[in-house]
Amino acid sequence: MTFAALGLVMSLFLQTPQDFPMPAPWADPGFAKLIWVQSPNYNRRPDNAVIDTIVLHSTVIPTLKATTEAFYNTKSEVSSHFTIGKDGSIVQNVSTFKRAWHAGVSKDSLGRENLNNFSIGIELVNLNDGKDPYPATQIQVLRFLILTLKRRFPALHYIVSHEYIAVPHGRKSDPKGFPWQTLDDLGFELVH
Ligand SMILES: [Zn+2]
Repeated sequence: MTFAALGLVMSLFLQTPQDFPMPAPWADPGFAKLIWVQSPNYNRRPDNAVIDTIVLHSTVIPTLKATTEAFYNTKSEVSSHFTIGKDGSIVQNVSTFKRAWHAGVSKDSLGRENLNNFSIGIELVNLNDGKDPYPATQIQVLRFLILTLKRRFPALHYIVSHEYIAVPHGRKSDPKGFPWQTLDDLGFELVH
């Protein structure tokens, strides 16, 4: 093994948030393209976690860049695994094997609490005012991402709204106005 290869192996173990910084200058990656901007806001999933749920959010924040900045900021104490821009650009902020901080205090239809433990969070850039549209480009990439995740995590079965799982009920309203029927044919149980 060369020193360069050893360095690469070591760097994989020693990755820190600074290894995937905010790109400067910022550019949305574009339709169905993904960039990784590592959020410091995550921790370990429980050892026995079976990832079977996707939590769908809208950002309220109007742009992909500003959302990524919020997740990149230690002080925000929030993150999601993925954020999808209106043009279908994707930013990943946290490894799906790690526990992102998107659901908050939560309980699902089965009575299971703390959904961050066993879910993947996907944020859609949207004002969450019930009027701001979710463009076809954004929904197309969301569907693609869901199906990709299903191949990696075969136990995935539920797609839930943040509104439904937030405790107390009424604490969250996202993703407001999302056209859930666009996910009807994916073979998931939709709870919203
Ligand atoms: Zn949310």
